[in-house]
Amino acid sequence: MVAATPLPSRGAPRGRRTGTLLVSEPTLGPEEAAALARVVEGGWITQGERVRAFERAFAEMHGAEDAVAVSSCTAALHLILHGLGIGPGDEVLVPALTFVASANCVLYVGATPVFVDVEAPDLPLMSLADAAARCTARTKAVILVHFAGYEPDREAWRAFARERGLRLVEDAAHAAGLPGAGTFGDAAAFSFYGNKNMTTAEGGMVLATDEGVRETIRRARAHGMTSGAHQRLATRAAAYDVIGLGFNYRLDELRAAIGLVQLARLPEWNRRRGALAALYRSGLRRACPEVTVPFEADRPSVHHIMPVLLPPGTDRQRVVDGLWARDIQTTLHYPPVHHLSFYAARCPGLHLPATEDFARRELTLPLHPAMRDDDVAEVVDALTDLVRAQPAAERPGPRVVEAGR
Ligand SMILES: *Cc1c(COP(=O)(O)O)cnc(C)c1O
Repeated sequence: MVAATPLPSRGAPRGRRTGTLLVSEPTLGPEEAAALARVVEGGWITQGERVRAFERAFAEMHGAEDAVAVSSCTAALHLILHGLGIGPGDEVLVPALTFVASANCVLYVGATPVFVDVEAPDLPLMSLADAAARCTARTKAVILVHFAGYEPDREAWRAFARERGLRLVEDAAHAAGLPGAGTFGDAAAFSFYGNKNMTTAEGGMVLATDEGVRETIRRARAHGMTSGAHQRLATRAAAYDVIGLGFNYRLDELRAAIGLVQLARLPEWNRRRGALAALYRSGLRRACPEVTVPFEADRPSVHHIMPVLLPPGTDRQRVVDGLWARDIQTTLHYPPVHHLSFYAARCPGLHLPATEDFARRELTLPLHPAMRDDDVAEVVDALTDLVRAQPAAERPGPRVVEAGR
């Protein structure tokens, strides 16, 4: 979440930061403000030419033919499953280590999410072997999540889907700007929520390989109508038809204007995220090797978040409280979806050992482009002190900290 705390880093004098070091923080400035003002002055605020320009620019950055801008990543996922014809009686493979939206979208179309374990606690991407074991005659699609911004094994998943005749969908909410993201399989959904690598406050994008699927999604974004208000104005046409079920999942010009500014800076921000993540990795390896940093350092990533694993048996709440006492926010990614009450009731007794081990020990550290190298050093020092101060025999406490998303 984006906290309503005064932004700590921007404009802060060199030396010790002021205010809380947040897990994530949007980078917003005069360019976004000016872009918004131009939309207001122009008078057309709902979906129009800026939305179209944003779609084209986003597609180009990801090496895709075209894109469809929508109101959120959740809407994007819903539209993708709708556009691919997934429905009642179908099963969709989804990692349990994700935000709940990845599973909710499957229920929106009347299909059944089937939760899959991750490869290992230090490789928290969906397990190919567990996915294969959970396939049935009803399995129709698989939703990959680029957890923390790291790239899943592209060729292995394409082969997996091809061999079984499955649709391959990317929940790329963590992966805006990741080269190749959005072109793994049939379609991909991106998020521009306030804590993502680029933001429009709320917003999302669909990439889809097949032009027909893309056009179905484009129409379903706006009630299934054959033309939009802006198009009818441009062509002086009064009539429209509705040729399929649709929703209202449109983006607007205000958000697209911010999105165009953010997109242009995304590569630079992602590089900065990468540099900060590398500092965390080397700092922790040196100061506190008992803390595990998941993933191989050289796996392609846009470093959406900085997850670490505390040593087994660590009282995580004590670490969280200790970091708060030093004005450092942390969150958890994620409470596994199959443990959330709504889903636990739907899949009683489901046990996903690697996901559960990861989720028990995981802590998400601050990572955003406005952070300074000093901030990373400070978090590494604080974390090292707190992990080392743990009484050796202590077991995890029963308290739960609020989950991040
Ligand atoms: C943020 C997120 C979503 C939902 O994105 P919205 O744009 O808020 O709808 C879906 N999946 C994952 C993995 C996310 O992190």
